[in-house]
Amino acid sequence: MVDAILTLGSDNRAALRRLVESLNLPRLEAGWVWLAGAGPGDPGLASLHTLSAIAEAEVIFVDALVNPALLALARPDAEIIDSGKRGGRPSPSQDTISRRLILAARRGGRVLRLKGGDPFVFGRGGEEALALVRAGIPFRVVPGVTAGIGGLAYAGIPVTHRDVNQAVTFVTGSGVDGKAPDLDWESIARGSPTIVLYMARRHAGEIAAKLIAAGRALSEPAAIISSASLDQQTTTVTTLGELGERAADAQTPAILVIGENVRLAEGLDWLGAATQGRTLDPDPLRRHRLSEAG
Ligand code: SAH
Repeated sequence: MVDAILTLGSDNRAALRRLVESLNLPRLEAGWVWLAGAGPGDPGLASLHTLSAIAEAEVIFVDALVNPALLALARPDAEIIDSGKRGGRPSPSQDTISRRLILAARRGGRVLRLKGGDPFVFGRGGEEALALVRAGIPFRVVPGVTAGIGGLAYAGIPVTHRDVNQAVTFVTGSGVDGKAPDLDWESIARGSPTIVLYMARRHAGEIAAKLIAAGRALSEPAAIISSASLDQQTTTVTTLGELGERAADAQTPAILVIGENVRLAEGLDWLGAATQGRTLDPDPLRRHRLSEAG
């Protein structure tokens, strides 16, 4: 059984390497660190660069939100180091992670720092990369599908739609000190038709209240997508007025979106249509009724 798994892994690694070579893509070299995004959960959303780095790496520092299924591609002798919060255990400090990355690279290892979503979107990838720059370690950044775009797409919500929003704002609901971030909420409320909130379950009510105080309607559509792109994905469609309460009940990880583009899910929930037989409404914004009637 174990032998079969190892063979499968090495076959897959060899196939990946052939693919990478045939496309002339770079490979993770000794002494280098790749900071790579694994996407929001569905392993199919990891890029070829990310998969190839998993297969080549001798040391892999993994974030909590990375789908562990991806690690089946790792070499059997790869050292896999948990570098995120799991099971309530405290996470290693940012400094500790950066120091370990530097040490592993200085020892001549092929080092992969694997992060959920995109490493540069609320992922501290920039901090780790700057530590590598200071230490003179060569590195490559592999962008990933971020939850605030790809997670919405899995719920049938386009992050922009010409008829609805020509701008979008990505916000972390959890500032440096763990409180709701101290932003100019009035400007965000006025200037951004669509607002996507990461890490915002706890402060969703407070943020919604600030947006409402700045003029956004209580009835504005909002959605909470939990475990986006994974089998256990759930979407709750609600209103801005009820967002706080509904978010408090939601499973984590959860991405929140406020804006009229949430209505598009009635037409575009392709996953619901495929897996639950949901009927899709071809005109979710009610744009075509009048012209058709006339
Ligand atoms: N770098 C990541 C974000 C890290 S912050 C990215 O680009 O996606 C962690 C937050 O991301 C979570 O609190 C949640 O808001 C969001 N998130 C990540 N994966 C998610 C998923 N599968 N479903 C819903 N939200 C997710």
